[in-house]
Amino acid sequence: MKTPILVALLMTATLPAFAQSNADPVEVELWRLDCGEVKVNDLDMFSDTRAYTGETRDLTSSCYLIRHGSDYMLWDTGLPVALKGAEQNDTDALSPTLKVTIEEQLAEIDLTPADIGRVGISHYHFDHTGQAASFPQAELMIDTRDWDVLSSDPLPTFAEGFANPDLVKPWQDGGKLTTTMGDTDVFGDGSVTMLAMPGHTPGSLALLLQLAETGPVLLSGDVVHFEEQIANAGVPPFNTDRGDTLASIDRMNRLAGNLGATLIIQHDPRDIDKLPAFPASAK
Ligand SMILES: [Zn+2]
Repeated sequence: MKTPILVALLMTATLPAFAQSNADPVEVELWRLDCGEVKVNDLDMFSDTRAYTGETRDLTSSCYLIRHGSDYMLWDTGLPVALKGAEQNDTDALSPTLKVTIEEQLAEIDLTPADIGRVGISHYHFDHTGQAASFPQAELMIDTRDWDVLSSDPLPTFAEGFANPDLVKPWQDGGKLTTTMGDTDVFGDGSVTMLAMPGHTPGSLALLLQLAETGPVLLSGDVVHFEEQIANAGVPPFNTDRGDTLASIDRMNRLAGNLGATLIIQHDPRDIDKLPAFPASAK
């Protein structure tokens, strides 16, 4: 016979899930936004085993708009507005540019920055926090360990040149901030989950979405920057933890396989076609 305490615990554990299954699922919609391009003139900077010596590559910089019912969330905010129209060159290791801002793209589907309730950030690098400050009223969601880096003065040496605290100034100044540890169910119904994938930075995240028609979609953050890094266990030398990176690549790849998820590597231009072209969306 179960003790009353155990019965109470079991009821507590099962009731929310039972209640959830009876509720109508909230519709989730996903748009891919153009958040810049990065010409990599020395691809070797993405491998600490010298896998790409002498290679160059054009990477894309993507970010995402998510609608959950009437709530809108951004996932990553791309390159800073200051890079709009920047000329790319063949000499810098990384040469970034931006054609169109997030705000300009939102206007195409009749949204303004005030409509954005949440901004989720995969990690503190400037090509992911670039336009966050265009949404100062939104709740910023970021892993605690990455927020700690952005809040350090001075920045830790490993973050110099990659992190720019000015890009998240509205939240340094008291804006609505949620710092997370581990996986986080954003809307409480399992439809949008931030996944802990440390290694590229101490608090790197990926994002898993459950879409009614498309099925599961897994947005990579920068767990990898392009597809080959999965097979060759590619670790950029500027990552903060080599072992964590390999574990996160393994988790991301197995998870996508087990769920049958569409894996979108956010910087890989070959993955652009996996989602409809903006302003079309995936549901
Ligand atoms: Zn990046």
